[in-house]
Amino acid sequence: MERFYITTPIYYPNAEPHIGHAYTTIYADTLARYHRLKGDDTFFLTGTDEHGQKLQRAAEKRGIHPKELVDEMAEKYKYYWSLMDISYDRFIRTTDPDHEELVKEAVTRIYRKGLIYKASYAGHYCVDCEKFYSPGEYLEIDGKPYCPIHRKPLEWLEEETYYFKLSEFEDYLKKVLEDHVYPRSYAHEVLRKIEKEGLKDVSIARPKERVWWGIPLPFDPDYTIYVWFDALLNYLTGIKYREDPETFNKYWPVAHHVIGKDILWFHTAIWFSMLRALDIDPPRKVIVHAFLINRGLKIGKSAGNVVPIDYLVERYRGSDGIRYVLMRLFNPSKDVDYTQELFDSIYNSELADTYGNLVRRVGVLVKKKLGGRASSETIDAELEQAIHKAYEKYQESLDSYEVSPAIEAVMEMLRVANAYINREKPWEKNDPSRDLYSLLETVRAASIMLYPVTPRASTRLAEAFGYTIERLDDAQPVKGREYTVNEAPILFKKIV
Ligand SMILES: [Zn+2]
Repeated sequence: MERFYITTPIYYPNAEPHIGHAYTTIYADTLARYHRLKGDDTFFLTGTDEHGQKLQRAAEKRGIHPKELVDEMAEKYKYYWSLMDISYDRFIRTTDPDHEELVKEAVTRIYRKGLIYKASYAGHYCVDCEKFYSPGEYLEIDGKPYCPIHRKPLEWLEEETYYFKLSEFEDYLKKVLEDHVYPRSYAHEVLRKIEKEGLKDVSIARPKERVWWGIPLPFDPDYTIYVWFDALLNYLTGIKYREDPETFNKYWPVAHHVIGKDILWFHTAIWFSMLRALDIDPPRKVIVHAFLINRGLKIGKSAGNVVPIDYLVERYRGSDGIRYVLMRLFNPSKDVDYTQELFDSIYNSELADTYGNLVRRVGVLVKKKLGGRASSETIDAELEQAIHKAYEKYQESLDSYEVSPAIEAVMEMLRVANAYINREKPWEKNDPSRDLYSLLETVRAASIMLYPVTPRASTRLAEAFGYTIERLDDAQPVKGREYTVNEAPILFKKIV
């Protein structure tokens, strides 16, 4: 049996999730559902990254303890993921006790290997990024340093801290990066940065007096572990690295991390080095995607261009419509521009017309012409071929992490079926059994292949046409099946 382990980044819950989080999470969910449909032993991890100064300050502002704040936010994430039909196996929170234990153990092991040391640091610091900026990285406004992301003044900070010896791992990274990043161009981006700037050691702790909301550094209680170092280790906690080596060894070799391109450096240079320091191989793949943008900017709270999930669910009447459109547009290399017109037009032309309308016509005809029962010992060769072609292209695409071409393959098959019904006019025939059976086989195949993207519509169609969705293999056409069509559903109502 094949196995598959997939993760999303754990999100920083300083605000509710929006369309940008959904873009990443639905993609991971689609791959998880695809692998389950193939029969693979699959584990899907998502969650929230709950420590750090930003959350500490947000809680202080509201006069509550940070734990209260993150408890509230974690519930919101879970709520929105249930609205979006995200089928995670574990929702991890970095405040979970098993995670905190793992982080302490991991940092101690790396320290004992001599890969963590204490030294002082001074520099310009952004509280919101929780990051030091060096000259050349920050903006200068009126001669003063500003955060390039938040566009607010940087604070001057001088402190003793603990460093992780990232510089030790240069040769290692050069050897492994290319094979473990998809698309490869992102690995080249990281390699160019290493080539240009070299690998500098990174601070992995913060003085407790400034940042107390985090996991204490086990070998120096005056310090809190830096939020990034803590967060990355969630990928090990999720599959029980500490308590259950068997589970860990089962899933780690097939680990896939889905990330946006803005966190590429942390998930490659830093994460691969941390793993190496723990004698753990890199994940099978870090799958990187470009941004979803709105009015030219990456969607986010600070850019003020957020599209809320509630709004999308209402507009597209449930999760399927928005899941479909986001996956249809999903692009690892190019930014995708959100516009309502574009989203509506994809929803209407592909889901409502090409797919939904065909299903409705086939259902109505089977009921009217065949009394709701259809079977045939032969299938139209053109449709049979269209199904096989789609099935191959679909698998080939998803096996190489490409969702949009997989969906396009199914749509192409459905376009062939639409042309077929218009040309054959089964409503004019005395016995259109063979035509309608061939069309039923086509829409059944579509519903199975689209199940990872539009699980609700696929389930609804299967119930209406009297079959079940169990395995991807079943998408291939067969002869002599008995259909009992009890309803001609309208799967997607058009947006006007
Ligand atoms: Zn900043």
